[in-house]
Amino acid sequence: MTMCVTCGSVRHMALYTCAKCGMSVNTTCGACDAALVDATLTKDDGTIVEISECPNGHGKIKSPLCCGADMSCSV
Ligand SMILES: [Zn+2]
Ligand SMILES: [Zn+2]
Repeated sequence: MTMCVTCGSVRHMALYTCAKCGMSVNTTCGACDAALVDATLTKDDGTIVEISECPNGHGKIKSPLCCGADMSCSV
């Protein structure tokens, strides 16, 4: 079981944390307000990109950026 580092409750959404400054963000879908789930996307050139996607199929976003680097999901 994974606990949320921010609120102490059991994790219920993808939480992205910046390795440099420690800032963390929760991501939710703008359409249905569901917590986005962590996923990866493989681009044409073979690069693997971390993304978040809506579990209800509303779409996907790239991982948030902070301090010039991709924030990593701690899930
Ligand atoms: Zn940062
Ligand atoms: Zn959605």
